[in-house]
Amino acid sequence: MEPYIDQKTMELHHNRHLQTYIDNLNATLKNYPKLQQLSLEQLILTAPKLPAAVGVPIARNAGGVYNHRFFFNGMTPDAQPPTGELALAINRTFGSLDGFKTQFTQAALSVFGSGYAWLTANRLKKLQIITTANQDTPLTMGLRPIITIDVWEHAYYLKHYNVRAAYVGDWWSVVRWPEAI
Ligand code: MN
Repeated sequence: MEPYIDQKTMELHHNRHLQTYIDNLNATLKNYPKLQQLSLEQLILTAPKLPAAVGVPIARNAGGVYNHRFFFNGMTPDAQPPTGELALAINRTFGSLDGFKTQFTQAALSVFGSGYAWLTANRLKKLQIITTANQDTPLTMGLRPIITIDVWEHAYYLKHYNVRAAYVGDWWSVVRWPEAI
């Protein structure tokens, strides 16, 4: 995904940051064989109902795995604009793809500290831009993610330094849009 996202950032981000969440999640689940049967999404939705001593680390680490996988899977060196039903919904909701990008970029820049900006759909397929803090996910809000950008500093600091706007601008060139909503 050069020159937009550099190789070193992706190596560290994928092989160390994501791996740490995987390792910590597995360590947390080690003594909970029943929880090991749950999918990643089920763990995220179950975590708030568990005692905090186990629920909090599961929420943070399962969220970290889910969010990073979603972010990485949503990037491609062969980026194409959205098509089909999703493209129509974006135009209907935000006026145009450029209108959407402007609003989404503002949301990504508005995240204070660490978090993500998301395009999501609710159960009625209504599109909505949201931001989440740390490793919170849209799943616990009943929203289905469509695309996301990780705006933790580790996602861009090596290449874009402290200029998040430059990173977000480059990221648009590597977005892999899903084919449906
Ligand atoms: Mn990250």
